[in-house]
Amino acid sequence: MSDIFYGFELLLFKRFLAHPEQWVEWRGNLAEKINDAGVIEIEDVGEIPQSLWFLSVALHKRQRALIQLIKYDVKREQEGKFFRSSETLLSKYLHLNQFTEFQLDSIFKYGEDNRLPSEIFSCPNVRKLSLKYNGLDYLPADIGRMSLLESLALTNNKLQVQSIPYSLSFCSKLNTLLLDNNLLDALPGFLLQMPSLKTVHRHGNHNYFKATFMWYHTDVHYRIIPLTTNNDKSKDILQPASLEFWAAKSVIGAKKDFFNDSVFANTLKDYISEIYSLFHICHYCSRACLYNVPGFKVITFKNPYLGNTCVPFQHWACSIDCARALEVPARNEQIAAACELDLKYEQYIHDCQEVYRGQRSSPLCVCSSDSSVVNLSRPKQPDTAKCTCVIS
Ligand SMILES: [Zn+2]
Repeated sequence: MSDIFYGFELLLFKRFLAHPEQWVEWRGNLAEKINDAGVIEIEDVGEIPQSLWFLSVALHKRQRALIQLIKYDVKREQEGKFFRSSETLLSKYLHLNQFTEFQLDSIFKYGEDNRLPSEIFSCPNVRKLSLKYNGLDYLPADIGRMSLLESLALTNNKLQVQSIPYSLSFCSKLNTLLLDNNLLDALPGFLLQMPSLKTVHRHGNHNYFKATFMWYHTDVHYRIIPLTTNNDKSKDILQPASLEFWAAKSVIGAKKDFFNDSVFANTLKDYISEIYSLFHICHYCSRACLYNVPGFKVITFKNPYLGNTCVPFQHWACSIDCARALEVPARNEQIAAACELDLKYEQYIHDCQEVYRGQRSSPLCVCSSDSSVVNLSRPKQPDTAKCTCVIS
């Protein structure tokens, strides 16, 4: 059995979740076609509508897993057992197969409902998740459930800095993050606190370089930008909010990996995850504030960062004091790094000049013994002239 879960499987179960009667119909059809060898001959199945093309693919490529699910589902029904409320056909399929990799690139058409089913984030063994080319404009907080995740590919989506949740930092084994071709103007500041990260790709973002050059050369006061947001997502919250809501806010502000903590009941984990995106978390004091609370956007630079120079990061701060506490040390570090780089450059130039002088004063000439050594600094001299070769 392959341990990779593919896009056609996700589309298949998305369809059956939306149309359970189709699942019942096809489950019955396919169960009858299972022969004595325990397989389904494709030609026995009959015509599968074009709209269910992913079922055809699944019968070809993942038949064993599909038959396993059909048998399991039929048996449960015969025994009078039904799925628990949190259980779905997809979650059962994922549980039966224990995938370690999800290849879910290009699974949504333009303009289609591209919400990712929460079931895919609840697979404990997944090491690699690829979600390229899906038009995603946010990443669910549930990503933090994938505690073993090592590689996350989000290339070619519509992600902005604020649409990547802090809960991604709960993936403590994440070493590769691909964010190319999104709508980022900087990287989320919390990535700086993820020591496991070894590769972060972020090229091709819409405003990326514009932001880099604009803020890199500005004074400290322009790197702290007051935010007065019109985002009204928080209006959906019933007022006054419940005790559960305030408890969840406190957990979010603690930056605690609540997904991986047995103290929290599963229903509470689900609830916190659901309201997670309603909050900004101060990068300095960790206070969780509702989206309609004004705050500050802070731009800092890390130079170098994972083999790259001058990488901008964006942080959210709840107050001007928190913003300064983030910006000033980061700027001092940037200036110190730039001074160090200048010193190294000056030393390099100095060393080169010393080598050059040493070679010019050397009595030895190699041009007669090695014709491949070319004088690049001066035009070629006539053979009769005194040799001025420089070893390159
Ligand atoms: Zn703060």
